[in-house]
Amino acid sequence: MKSFTYVSFPARVVFGAGSVARLEKEVERLGAKRALFISTPGRAADVRRLAATLGDRYAGLYDQAVRHVPIEVAEDARRAAKEGNADCCVVVGGGSTIGLGKAIALTTGMPVLAVPTTYSGSEMTWTQGFTEGGRKRTQVDPKMLPKTVIYDPELTLGLPAATSAASGMNAIAHCVEALYAKEANPVVSLMAEEGIRALAASLPAIVRDPKNMESRGEALYGAWLAGMCLNTGIALHHKLCHTLGGTWNLPHAETHSIVLPHAVRYNRDAAPEAMARIARALGAEEAAGGLYDLEMKLGLKMKLAELGVPAGDLERAARIALEAPYPNPAPITYEGVLALLRDAHAGRRPG
Ligand code: NAD
Repeated sequence: MKSFTYVSFPARVVFGAGSVARLEKEVERLGAKRALFISTPGRAADVRRLAATLGDRYAGLYDQAVRHVPIEVAEDARRAAKEGNADCCVVVGGGSTIGLGKAIALTTGMPVLAVPTTYSGSEMTWTQGFTEGGRKRTQVDPKMLPKTVIYDPELTLGLPAATSAASGMNAIAHCVEALYAKEANPVVSLMAEEGIRALAASLPAIVRDPKNMESRGEALYGAWLAGMCLNTGIALHHKLCHTLGGTWNLPHAETHSIVLPHAVRYNRDAAPEAMARIARALGAEEAAGGLYDLEMKLGLKMKLAELGVPAGDLERAARIALEAPYPNPAPITYEGVLALLRDAHAGRRPG
């Protein structure tokens, strides 16, 4: 067995349908007296109803979370936390909401309790992406790791089928890259393979019937595993998605979904063991084609062109992606990355 380093990330996980009923007890457990809730504008009414269950411990709702955490929004939310005299942050939503809670934790040190309602996996990491001046950057700090995570599949029943499918593929992307990341290790590889299996099994059922509680639970379990995998390392795929998402302000999960089969194809010959595990978890003959076929089955967008990326911008995207590349199994070349982006732009099935 090869040498490796494994880091575990301490978090308390409360999992199960109806588990959000334990929210007040879990806030109390953190020793917090005043919880600031965070949501996107669209989720504010639901989150306000949930917050009402906290009684005196409710310090207010900041409902302006948007994707990629613009630095101005982070500063505004920190002000709201200070003015509300909050000593804890409860984030209810997807990666955008969780990212904003992390931004508050970074400068105040206050604990974050996360209630994820998508499959982004952000609740399990101590990294956070933010945008400043049109560029997305990542910061890492243990203070940002949520102390408690409540996974309640009931809260995901209203997540639209298309958002669920794309978000699930975002989670699969975390698992995929953990299998061939520089810091890959046998423990995380177990979680990665199981995460892909759970998501690939549950997402088609969710798209058929978004209210299927059994599948919602399995997908959330897969997302939890995916979040733990994300801490292990990322490679070319995530770099491309960060570049595209931050510079062209693209929807995060959909971008991941479109790029993933092509990034996996790029790494095919350099990471054969990872490819075998991905294919096995998907129940497919090979990894890249299996991911592409799963996405087709889920009815996802398959082309970067459909997200509004002009074909003429691909050279620029390739250049930015090469500026500070993440470690990757296959050598990263401008020509190779450009060809990958062109395939993703046209939505060609990886050959
Ligand atoms: P998101 O948080 O933007 O959510 C997508 C949409 O779904 C939003 O409009 C939201 O209001 C809505 N939504 C969420 N839950 C819902 C529900 N239950 N019912 C109905 N609508 C619901 O999208 P996302 O893909 O979860 O997160 C993307 C962001 O997360 C990006 O900014 C990305 O950079 C970040 N991210 C960070 C990490 C990390 O570890 N730091 C990991 C993954 C993603």
